[in-house]
Amino acid sequence: MLEQPRTRGTGPGAGGRSGDGDRPDEYTEVLRVAARRASEWLGEVRERPIPPRAGADQVEQALGRELPEQGMPAVQVLEELAEAIEPGLIAINSPRFYGWVIGGTQPAALGADWLVSAWDQNTGLRTITPGAVAAEEIAGEWVLDLLGLPPESAVGFTTGATMAQFSAMAAGRDEVLRRAGWDVSVEGLAGGPKVRFIVGAERHGTVDLAARYLGLGAPIEVAVDREGRIRVDALAETLDAGEGPALVLLQAGNIHSGAFDAFGEAVEVAHRAGAWVHVDGAFGLWAAVSPRFASLVDGLATADSWSTDAHKTLNVPYDCGIAIVRDQPAMLRALSMHASYLQATDVGADPHEKVPELSRRARGVPTYAVLRTLGRRGVRELVERLADSARTIADGLAAIPGVEVLNDVAFTQVCIALEHDEATTALSERLWREGEVLAMTSRWHDRVIVRFSVSNWRTDASEARRTVDVVARAIEELRAGGRP
Ligand SMILES: *Cc1c(COP(=O)(O)O)cnc(C)c1O
Repeated sequence: MLEQPRTRGTGPGAGGRSGDGDRPDEYTEVLRVAARRASEWLGEVRERPIPPRAGADQVEQALGRELPEQGMPAVQVLEELAEAIEPGLIAINSPRFYGWVIGGTQPAALGADWLVSAWDQNTGLRTITPGAVAAEEIAGEWVLDLLGLPPESAVGFTTGATMAQFSAMAAGRDEVLRRAGWDVSVEGLAGGPKVRFIVGAERHGTVDLAARYLGLGAPIEVAVDREGRIRVDALAETLDAGEGPALVLLQAGNIHSGAFDAFGEAVEVAHRAGAWVHVDGAFGLWAAVSPRFASLVDGLATADSWSTDAHKTLNVPYDCGIAIVRDQPAMLRALSMHASYLQATDVGADPHEKVPELSRRARGVPTYAVLRTLGRRGVRELVERLADSARTIADGLAAIPGVEVLNDVAFTQVCIALEHDEATTALSERLWREGEVLAMTSRWHDRVIVRFSVSNWRTDASEARRTVDVVARAIEELRAGGRP
C-alpha cells in the first residue's frame, strides 16, 4: 500500500511560512467558508421565495465597482461575496421552479464538482490526466448504455446542449460535404456545395445558433403537427424538392409540449436521401431510460448523432452538455487537432478531440458521480418522477375552472392558458410576486401560456400537489380581485 503523504507543521499556529498562498491550511479555511455558505444556501433554497430580491445594479453596488489597490484575505472575500450576492440569487434549484428546463444539483454531483475544481485537471489528454479521463470515459459509456445508443459512439462533454449540438453537427456537416467530394478542413465552406439544413418549425432556438456558428445559414423549416412534431411527409417532400448534402435535425422533447419526433420514420426518410440526422434531446433524450417511454424514443438509435444536457434532467451543476456521434472518425475529423507539444494518446481518442475546447475542466466527473449514486434504477426513477409530477400538475390544473392544458402531456412539460392572454399573464406575474411557485410565460399556438417545465430532482408528488394548490389559490385571488 502506498504511504499517505502527510502535511505537517503548516496548521494554524504552526507559524513560519506566510504569504505563499499554497499552504494547505489556507485552502482548508477557504473551503470551510465555502462549505458553510453553500450549506446555508442549500438549506433555505426549498422554502425561500424563488425570485431574486435585488437586481444586478444593487448587487454591483454592494460588491463595489472600484478595483481596490489593496487586496483582502480569501476567506473575507468569500464571506463578503456571498453576503453581497445572496439577495440577487434566484432559487433556481427550488423543487417548485418550473421557469425553464433547468434542473437543480444532486448532492453527489455537487461534491464531485467541488473535487473537480480542487483537482484542477485540464482534462484534454488521456495520458496526462488519466484519473479524470477514466471517470469521464466510464460516464460516457454509461450514458450510451442507459440511452440505448450505439456503443461505438464518440462522447464529448461540452458546456451545454448548444455546444453539444454544435459539436455533433460539425461532424455531420463535414461528413455530408466529404461524401460530396468537398473537404471543409482544406477548402472552407465558400464555393462548396450548399448543405441543406432541415429542421422542424418548432426546433429549439439554439439549433439556429449552432447552425450560424457552423456557417449553415438559416435552416429550411418543415411543418409540424399540433404538438410540434416534425411531419414526416413534409420532411420527405422537402428532401425531395432539393438535392445535395443535407443535415436533418430532429427533436426529443419539444420545450412547450415535451413531444418527440417520430424518429424511426423520419430517420429512414432522411437516410434514404443521404442526409445526416442529428437529434436535439437536451432534456428529452433521457426518456430513453424508462420502458414507459419506449414508444416516444422508438428508432432514436438509428440517427447519426445526439446531443443532451447533464445539467437538466440529470441534475448535475452547470455546465455539462453531452455530444454523441456514432461515427467517431467523423467527429475527430471535425474537432480534433494535433500539435507536437501535446502528448496524444495511442488508445482511442483524447477528450479534447470530441469538443470545441482544448483546455477544459473534468465536467464529466459529476455525471459519473450522479450515475453511480443512482444506479440504473435510480436514473429511471428520476425520469419517471419528473414525468409523473408533470402529470399530477397537469391533472390538478386542468381541474381548475377556466384553466386549459394545451399540450398532450407526454413527458415533463405542461402548458396552460386561462380564458384570455391578459389573465394568463396576470397569473404568471402573481406567481412571481408570491414566490412560492415559479412558472414563466411563453407564446405557443398564438396564445400567451404559462409553462411548467418539471426538471428538478426534488419535484415529487407532494411538491407537485403543493404547486397545484398554490396556482389554484393564485387564480382564485386574481378572480376575487376582479382581474381576469
Ligand atoms: C436547453 C435546451 C437547449 C440548449 O441547451 P443549453 O444547455 O442551454 O446550451 C437546446 N435544446 C433544447 C430542447 C433545450 O431544452
